[in-house]
Amino acid sequence: MYCRSGIRCRLGRLASPEARQSSPDAGRTLGLSRRRGRSKRTGSGISAKSLFNGAASGLKWPAPAIGNRNRLEAMKKIVVIGEILVEIMADARGRGFLETMALTGPFPSGAPAIFADQAARLGQPCAIVSAVGNDDFGRLNLDRLRADGVDVSAIRIDDDRPTGSAFVRYRPDGSRDFVFNIRHSACGRIAVSDAVRAALDGADHLHVMGSSLSGGDIIALNIETAAAVKSRGGTVSFDPNSRKEILKSPAVREAMRKVLLATDLYLPSGDELALLTSADSERGAVAELLDLGVEAIVHKNGSEGARYYDAARDIRGPAIAVGEIDPTGAGDCFGATFTSLWLRGAAVEDALALASASGALSVAKRGPMEGVSDMPALRRFLSENIGAR
Ligand code: ATP
Ligand code: MG
Repeated sequence: MYCRSGIRCRLGRLASPEARQSSPDAGRTLGLSRRRGRSKRTGSGISAKSLFNGAASGLKWPAPAIGNRNRLEAMKKIVVIGEILVEIMADARGRGFLETMALTGPFPSGAPAIFADQAARLGQPCAIVSAVGNDDFGRLNLDRLRADGVDVSAIRIDDDRPTGSAFVRYRPDGSRDFVFNIRHSACGRIAVSDAVRAALDGADHLHVMGSSLSGGDIIALNIETAAAVKSRGGTVSFDPNSRKEILKSPAVREAMRKVLLATDLYLPSGDELALLTSADSERGAVAELLDLGVEAIVHKNGSEGARYYDAARDIRGPAIAVGEIDPTGAGDCFGATFTSLWLRGAAVEDALALASASGALSVAKRGPMEGVSDMPALRRFLSENIGAR
């Protein structure tokens, strides 16, 4: 599994049922969820009513409770600030772009854009503050985001700069070569227009993508918005989604630490768990993050699944085995689904199950935003696959 940033390069092997069965935590996960399955935010607990109509006896996850609208809090509005780009992918694996080759794309992309699109597909109100060029790549993105229900009113159309792009080629070992045009593209420049101000002021929740914290203006706007959202009782989620090299920049590291201090829901993957801490173990990193004031941590780990921590709970969310076609975007889809459910006050076990379905469906499609799902698709996928668990 290869994260977009290239931090983690591991083979995207499928989670084997045997490995999951023999996991020392396999039973504990269920035990914990039964004992402690009350949502801290709403006290909603584990659903009594199965979404899977009688199939519940075989479930290792409690059935998602989100079908019961009465239990949900009013829909919170999410805002994300960051890059929108197109991704153009080499058809064949190999090294770099030093020869003429067949490419497929453009695919709509950009980590914050994928997050926003996935959240909107679940019916969560979500706006993105960004910019695209006055070109087809921009129109492709705008059309997709708009069609999927994202509030695009704060996306500026830049007449001087083109839409961002990333050319991607998988190497034989699964790592990737990129040619990026982001910093000098439309989304590399943020202007706080009235539309942007309205989107920011109307948000109940800010999601910050570490990959977006590369320029001074975007860093400042994210940090200022985090403070404003918190001051009016809102919440912040943060996916560091960052390369270690980026953190060598003192300004970016400091920005990330500032965002972390405002973070309620932290969504690191792989090594990112300890990245902004002084800890050298997972346990130590979790303890340090909770001490800093983070309410909940969801540690994503590709085909090995995810793990949720808060002050009282440690809950595993096993991955759902799929044929991995393109891992890019899994973390964004998983994060958007978990965050949307968390904002609705769903039980953690339900949010983990649906987020795992979202991540799995994302890797099963080619193209970073092609694997987003709506709620019926997530439920269907869970009900079809839960029997195999
Ligand atoms: P990216 O930054 O590339 O979007 P990420 O590194 O932030 O991804 P991952 O840990 O790769 O996030 O994936 C998020 C979640 O998606 C995982 O915790 C898991 O539930 C699901 N997932 C990812 N890869 C697979 C896979 N190969 N098979 C099944 N589920 C997967
Ligand atoms: Mg990621």
